Amino acid sequence: MDKSKRKAVIAGNWKMNKTAAETSVLIEELLPLASGANCDVVICPPMVNLGAAAQQTLGSNVAVGSQNIHFEQSGAYTGEVSADMLLDLGVKYAIVGHSERRQYFAETDETVNLRAKAAVAAGLTAIICVGESLEQREQGVTEELVRLQTKVALGGFTAADMQKVIIAYEPVWAIGTGRTATADQAEEVCAAIRKVLAELYGQQVADGVTIQYGGSMNAANAAELLSKPNVDGGLIGGASLKPADFAAIINAASV
Ligand code: PEP
Repeated sequence: MDKSKRKAVIAGNWKMNKTAAETSVLIEELLPLASGANCDVVICPPMVNLGAAAQQTLGSNVAVGSQNIHFEQSGAYTGEVSADMLLDLGVKYAIVGHSERRQYFAETDETVNLRAKAAVAAGLTAIICVGESLEQREQGVTEELVRLQTKVALGGFTAADMQKVIIAYEPVWAIGTGRTATADQAEEVCAAIRKVLAELYGQQVADGVTIQYGGSMNAANAAELLSKPNVDGGLIGGASLKPADFAAIINAASV
């Protein structure tokens, strides 16, 4: 598997952490540590801090992403933020369908599809999250489920759209639990996702899509996970709030 056909992308999902002042401090600490990265680096602070983060990272190799995005352009959608609003702030990426959004905010495969479509139509790169619960893994339906999540999320996407899509494989049981999938488990599912992409768009397009692993990736386990042929990067929660740890993961992806 030739990994040079696609970009390694390390993205930090800060979740509901860091005030404006804390965001600025964390970015200040991170920028010098990430400046030598030989991979794409993305940080996803809380919505209210995106504009300031985009300003602070301007001219650096660190891009800014949102943790969510709404599918309509404007209107009566209290609490939501549109693609145009994000673009206007200098945001380049949008995480879509994170398991916490699915679990706590009733996100479905269908709304994930709508949100991802809105992101890509506006020129943002959508980081689409898929992954199974522990119960589903134990039932042996991981591959089937992830195939379905991926297919539904990509409904209506053309091969050209896929240049703006990243798939993040995030087993729900590994998120924020300190329990990481083994590198072989991550590889197995990431390879299955690439197979679905090949079925939908052909092998050449599939080989160009970045597939991340996410779920308790940290400074100690990143190198092994990222050494796998179909694991092209990481979506990092907890460790992305610690500059030295996030930098170690960036370095592991930069080889
Ligand atoms: C995540 O939030 O996407 C994530 C993978 O979190 P953590 O790294 O903390 O498991």
